[in-house]
Amino acid sequence: MSDFSDIIDQEQMKEHMQYALRTGKISHAYIISGESGSGKEMVARCFAKALQCDNKREKGGLLEACNECTSCKKALTDNHPDIITITHEKPTSIGVDDIRQKLRDDVIIKPYESSHKIYIIPEGEKMTVAAQNALLKTLEEPPEYIVIIILTSNINQFLPTIISRCIVLPMKPVKDDSIKKYLMEECHVVDYKAMLCASFARGNVGKALELASNERFEKLKNETIDIVSKVKNLELQDMMERIHSILEAPPDTSDADKKAVEKRQYEDFMDVLLYLFRDVLVYKATGNDNHLIFTDKVSYISSVTEKCSYLQVGDIIDKMEIAKKRINSNVNMDLTLELMFMGIKENL
Ligand SMILES: [Zn+2]
Repeated sequence: MSDFSDIIDQEQMKEHMQYALRTGKISHAYIISGESGSGKEMVARCFAKALQCDNKREKGGLLEACNECTSCKKALTDNHPDIITITHEKPTSIGVDDIRQKLRDDVIIKPYESSHKIYIIPEGEKMTVAAQNALLKTLEEPPEYIVIIILTSNINQFLPTIISRCIVLPMKPVKDDSIKKYLMEECHVVDYKAMLCASFARGNVGKALELASNERFEKLKNETIDIVSKVKNLELQDMMERIHSILEAPPDTSDADKKAVEKRQYEDFMDVLLYLFRDVLVYKATGNDNHLIFTDKVSYISSVTEKCSYLQVGDIIDKMEIAKKRINSNVNMDLTLELMFMGIKENL
């Protein structure tokens, strides 16, 4: 489990939590919002551990949990009786009974051994309206010692009355450079791959880690670039078959995850194409590979740079953007991709 010094960027979040720890001005309720993979739970657990620590210490300008006291040891092994995670029976929703039994009826019991009793609610957006109303009762009259931390990827699902009683702390996208540095220094990812994963992760550290550790992405990238580099000589039908096999979820994917996996494959596929031709523009403008994302594809990028004018590369990128928009508004994907590749072919 992490400490504040392990949290990449998120300066506002850290500042707020540090201030709370130093002054003892702790709110009874927080909402930490951010997309999946952004590190909400890690931040919440770091804060909870520090709040409960009996022996907090200064480290590099930050007030950190000691990681040695009894409380820290329990928090580190997820065994702290006063750090409670609200789980739910149904995978798709947190019902009123979950909140009543695990939170509302439990808050009246004083902390077992710490100054606070902390409840963490992951996937808070899954709370039904009835569950939120049950939670609201506790938020309206919270016992002195409780701290509720709601994690969510969609704050719009909450009743305004819930939001108004919580301190909302949004996770911010992490800078590409910070992610790159983290991947290289902490995960020993090689330079070009770290940069590529950072670019594709769009500020999401979890996604960057997944991309870096995952051969799926490497394969998708290579196959996508191979198709576009052969677009002149490929029959339309063969090309579409190859694209389908890129976009299909692997056979071991569960039915429940299939749609989400395929959506992500498609997004990564389109992003590879867009970043590739963005690289062509960069290479055209600078004449060197210093600022490229696909530094392992320089020979292909330079060959397109020689063949195409700025106008033609611009036209290719336009056609990709149009295809993306059409597919997002549910126009037939196959037809749209065929048109897009024909447009690319004309310019190459
Ligand atoms: Zn401690």
